[in-house]
Amino acid sequence: MRKSLVAGNWKMNGSLETVDALAEGIVQNQAEIGCDVLVCPVSVHLDRVSRLIDGSLVKLGAQNCSDKSSGAYTGEVSAEMLKEVGCSFVILGHSERRTLFSEGDELIRNKLLSVLDAGLIPVLCVGETLDEREQGVAEAVVKAQVLAALKGVTKNLESVVVAYEPVWAIGTGLTATPEQAQAMHAFIRSVLAEISEELSLKVRILYGGSVKPENAREIFGQPDIDGGLIGGASLKVKDFISICQAAG
Ligand code: 13P
Repeated sequence: MRKSLVAGNWKMNGSLETVDALAEGIVQNQAEIGCDVLVCPVSVHLDRVSRLIDGSLVKLGAQNCSDKSSGAYTGEVSAEMLKEVGCSFVILGHSERRTLFSEGDELIRNKLLSVLDAGLIPVLCVGETLDEREQGVAEAVVKAQVLAALKGVTKNLESVVVAYEPVWAIGTGLTATPEQAQAMHAFIRSVLAEISEELSLKVRILYGGSVKPENAREIFGQPDIDGGLIGGASLKVKDFISICQAAG
C-alpha cells in the first residue's frame, strides 16, 4: 500500500535562527510520526537543514530546480547539486512558480526529467484556479497539467508524487471539502491509469491548500489522499507535527 507523506513547503520564509528551531523541533518529535515526513526550505538553507536532520527520519526537499545540469545559467541550481546537499525530493510546478514566474508545462516537464535523472523524487504540483473551477474546467486543467508533465517520461516514473493544490485554497484559509478533494484525487488517479494501471496504484497523491491541524484528519481519511503538502501550518512545529500525526 501507499505510505502517507506529509511535506512542509516552507516557501520563502525564515531566518537561520527560525529554520534551525523548526528543523530541530520536528526531529525532536519524530517519534510521534508514523508517515513519511519531508521539509522543503529555501535553497540557501538546504545544506544547513540537511545537517540538522541528518540521521533522523525527516527527508529533505527543494522547492524548485533547474532543468539544466550545469553551465552558464546564472542563479539556477541543478538537481545534482540538490542531491549532493542531501535532497531526495524536489517540488515542481507549484502554482506560485507557474503564475508568478511564468513556468509553463514544457519547462516543468524538463525539470521533472532532470529530477528523475538525478534519482530524486519530483513532487509535481497541479491545480485549477477558482475561475477554472467555476467554469467547470477544473478536471480538464488538472488532467492537462499531469499529462504534459509526464509526457514521454518512463525512467523512475513510479516514484513521482503528485500534489493537488487548488489555487483558490492556497494561503487563503479556504480548503477544498474532503469530498471535493477526494473527487479530484480519484480523477487524477484515473488519469494516471490511462498511462498504466500499476502506476496509478503506486503514485502518492497529496492534497495541499490551507491544511491545518483542525482539518487534516478528515482530508487524509479519504481513500485517494495519501498525505499533504503544507504551507503556512508547516512553519509551526506543533501544528506540523499534529498534521503529520493525522496522516498516520
Ligand atoms: P497553505 O498551506 O499555506 O495554503 O499553502 C499550501 C501550499 O502552497 C503548499 O505548497
